[in-house]
Amino acid sequence: MPESSLHMNQENNTNSGSNLSETPKQVLTIPSVVKVVDLASMLNKPVTEIIKILLANGVLVTINDNIDFETAAILGDDLGFEAVEEKSDESEAVLEDDDEEGEVGVRNPIVTVMGHVDHGKTSLLDYIRETRVVQEESGGITQHIGSYQVAYKDQKITFLDTPGHAAFSAIRAQGTKVTDVVVLVVAADDGVKPQTVEAIKLAQAVNVPIIVAVTKIDKADKNLDLIKQQLGEHGVLTEAWGGKVPLVGVSAKTGEGVDELLELISLTSEIAELTARQTGKARGVVIEAQHDVKVGQLATVIIKSGKLSVGDNFVVGGTYGKVKAMQDYNGKRIKEALPSTPVSIIGFADAPVVGDILMVVDDEKTARSQAAKNRVSFSGKIAKSQSDISALVDQIKSQQVQNLNVVIKTDVQGSLQAITDQLNEIVTDRGNKIVIISSGVGNISENDVLAAAGGNAFVVGFKVRALPGAIQMAKKENIKILDYSIIYELTKALADLLVESVGLKKTETVVNQGEVLKVFRTTPKQKIVGVKVGKGEIKTGQIFRVHRNEELIGDGNIVGIKQGPKDVDTANEGEFGFSVEITSKVKEKDKIEFVQVEHIKSKLVNEL
Ligand code: GDP
Repeated sequence: MPESSLHMNQENNTNSGSNLSETPKQVLTIPSVVKVVDLASMLNKPVTEIIKILLANGVLVTINDNIDFETAAILGDDLGFEAVEEKSDESEAVLEDDDEEGEVGVRNPIVTVMGHVDHGKTSLLDYIRETRVVQEESGGITQHIGSYQVAYKDQKITFLDTPGHAAFSAIRAQGTKVTDVVVLVVAADDGVKPQTVEAIKLAQAVNVPIIVAVTKIDKADKNLDLIKQQLGEHGVLTEAWGGKVPLVGVSAKTGEGVDELLELISLTSEIAELTARQTGKARGVVIEAQHDVKVGQLATVIIKSGKLSVGDNFVVGGTYGKVKAMQDYNGKRIKEALPSTPVSIIGFADAPVVGDILMVVDDEKTARSQAAKNRVSFSGKIAKSQSDISALVDQIKSQQVQNLNVVIKTDVQGSLQAITDQLNEIVTDRGNKIVIISSGVGNISENDVLAAAGGNAFVVGFKVRALPGAIQMAKKENIKILDYSIIYELTKALADLLVESVGLKKTETVVNQGEVLKVFRTTPKQKIVGVKVGKGEIKTGQIFRVHRNEELIGDGNIVGIKQGPKDVDTANEGEFGFSVEITSKVKEKDKIEFVQVEHIKSKLVNEL
């Protein structure tokens, strides 16, 4: 992404031939939706001043409100800026077009181990860590970080050790790639399974070389030929199948094949000739983030280019910070980190999102204002305003489903777990539930919106942003995105939605009956019908149901009641004229049922 699109773009009109008496206006790129407080930060003005100017223009806002570009542009006139709307289809792939200057040198490979659950990913990673990582004396926090490095020959191989494919997918959704080699784990006794196929697709999508590690090779019931065949069917051609993908049998129990695997990784990365900028401002990818009671917000970042040093100011998605301290995978304090190094960093203003890119900037002010700009919350656009929630309720009601289907995206694994646990507890007395059809960490991507579209669902984000592609896709597919930053608010909102949409039960009560005396007026959509009714209170809004010879003819809403020439609110015993919105024909002597329809809300079994 070009630098200029990330921050205030103060291009001056440099046309030397222009009229000098006219001061050129500064150009300010404003996102299509921006929080008042963030806009103030971009403009470098006190929030109160911004609110005042907007008020003078008839726009009443508070500091956390989102305003659209048109509203923000009003400020342009008053403050002497020319407001330009930011294009929303920018790629977030800032890593791929690194335009920083610096010396380029060889870097170490970064490896991700992927494969089906229970196929031995953790065991293999643990075996390598335990046998290969030299444990050094730990400095401060001994928190396990989601990545480690292994010395092999004259190289250091960086292994990504994050749960499942979560981090990989999150990073991929941002259009960047963090890994150089994928080790595809396939259990010798189980073969290629759905998540193996998913891993193959992820690796192929980012065009990363694959090395197949057939795990549990110590087991007797192995069938390597079958595995090679299955892999071949999914486009992974091993040498036996005339391809180039290396395959090695490994065991986390005996250690067999592990050295060979490291050798293959080393060879594969040599062939790839991996290089990176070794000096200049660092850029990296957040692979995990967590809150530590002692030190506050922590995140593990893999440096992709440049050199990260203690004291550097950085922006990362919608937050920013300054590297207060850094540790390597051994918990050892370090002052600098070069490309391919995983580091645990302290010094974030707020939790960063997995997959977001950390970029070092000149100073704190720049970091702050770029973060503000990036923080363009989508909540103003695809809002959780009351009208949006009721539209969502109507949409879900019309789908006539039993459960509330959602796609959940969160900032980090910890919050995903907490939210999932709480949502699983929510159930109504009629058995309606919240079903998470897809979930993950990282910003909301097009894939999340597509998953929602395919599953009669909507997307719920927690402390994440919607990527521009996702916003466009959501508009196209008419998929709602709700965003929250407090877990309780999220679970409460979903519980309310559940009760109000799928948890509603329709009940019908026949309140009165009668016979048509005369049809006074007939239009295709509305009739005025005289009916003799019995006992029971009839009101407008009730249903007028017509039967003839025991057969249902049709029904419609009662919109007005007359007794003689007089309009009345209710009808009870006697002759009345009913205005009814009904398309069916009504005749004399037709039997009428007056029906009161009610929607009864279900109750939650466990109170929140
Ligand atoms: P993951 O879900 O892919 O991380 O799989 P795990 O590493 O948790 O392994 C799943 C199960 O397989 C565990 O019970 C392990 O003890 C077992 N396992 C993993 N690797 C090996 C191996 O090389 N040999 C044998 N015999 N069992 C293994």
